[in-house]
Amino acid sequence: MARNQLRTAVIIAVGSELLTPERVDTNSLFLTDALNELGVQLRYKVVVGDARDDIGAALLAAAAQADIVVVTGGLGPTDDDVTREAVATACGMPLQEDADVAAAIRSRFAARGLAMPAINRRQALVPRGATVLPNPDGSAPGLWIERPEMVCIVLPGPPRELRGMFEAVARTRLAAACGRQGIFRRVLRVTGRPESYVDEVASPVYSRWLSAAVPISTSVLATRGEVELHLSARAATREDADGALDAATSELAAVLGTDLVSSDGAALEEVVGRLLRAQGRRVAVAESCTGGLIASRLTDVPGSSEYVHAGWVAYHNEAKTALLGVDARLIEDHGAVSEPVARALADGCRMRAGTDYGLGVTGIAGPGGGSSDKPVGTVYVALAGPGGRLRVRRLNLPGDRERVKHFASQAALDLLRRTLLE
Ligand code: AMP
Ligand code: MG
Repeated sequence: MARNQLRTAVIIAVGSELLTPERVDTNSLFLTDALNELGVQLRYKVVVGDARDDIGAALLAAAAQADIVVVTGGLGPTDDDVTREAVATACGMPLQEDADVAAAIRSRFAARGLAMPAINRRQALVPRGATVLPNPDGSAPGLWIERPEMVCIVLPGPPRELRGMFEAVARTRLAAACGRQGIFRRVLRVTGRPESYVDEVASPVYSRWLSAAVPISTSVLATRGEVELHLSARAATREDADGALDAATSELAAVLGTDLVSSDGAALEEVVGRLLRAQGRRVAVAESCTGGLIASRLTDVPGSSEYVHAGWVAYHNEAKTALLGVDARLIEDHGAVSEPVARALADGCRMRAGTDYGLGVTGIAGPGGGSSDKPVGTVYVALAGPGGRLRVRRLNLPGDRERVKHFASQAALDLLRRTLLE
């Protein structure tokens, strides 16, 4: 196969633990990003256990489908790690001890004042004809194997070692083998609109970019409470890609208006933080059904102490009165989940914290506690702002308890974001 034409890849993640609910394969996410940057498209990825035959079969199948096969994991010194043997067998390259690798492993141990355990010698076994990729962060070396039908790259499983080896040696080798075009991405986030609406307004714009000089392909993904537009540009350099992505993004921003939360992948809470900081405003939160989730999301952002002043979880009715001054009669007359109580929570936390904004949330997260006029998922979100201005939204949220809590926090943060944009 001609080099400079490596266009497609398959990733094989090896590890029996990755076939249990305990661990998830994250290496392939890092690798996909890195491969895309080099202009390589992923055909598919698979997870296999630490079983010689399964690894070999996956490798042969992948080699028939793609130019590059990346195998990660199973390079440890213990008997359960069999990737090295499986790859050697599948490629028909017998294993032999590599003196340089053995010496490197021995000196790694010597540096810590230890003798090399006998089992680590296995890590010095290299398929004949393979190139060894040094491991800056561990003892297991990686492998680079060139076959007529594919390039096979074998990398260690521990994510830190995988990244270290990729950055130190694999990226440059791959870049040389792949030629020039890269795939560059951008993520736009939209709130408060269903996927179909977003696609309807955005597709006339993004479909034009598909056939531009720097072509951009777009996918629309609904995630929890948001819709994401993923733009991928294929270009020779990052600058070329950025130029096209910037232009496409401004066209999309124009049709999406204030529904567009961010075009650099920033989360809603991060965008709210940027707006508060830029305007020198501070916020306090009084939460019932979200149980602190809004405060938690706001404070996920580094530096948020600049604009997050305080948060209360006022779950019990008495706490709403004692902590935030919500009139007990208000709760009695309208119920804890009601517009007047949401207003009183927002106003109460704003007054008590002395902030510019106060967010109040009260609702029925379920599964119990619903009624015909206030079913499960009924949530009131209120925002008190400068000059005592109040805004309230009644929401009818779908889903289980966890989803209702999440959507409620999303609506509250979005109400604040839209208000800050005015
Ligand atoms: P191994 O190289 O298979 O011995 O893996 C060593 C460690 O890296 C184990 O803790 C694995 O769970 C972890 N690991 C292996 N493969 C992956 C992967 N694809 N994604 C994330 N972690 C992994
Ligand atoms: Mg393993």
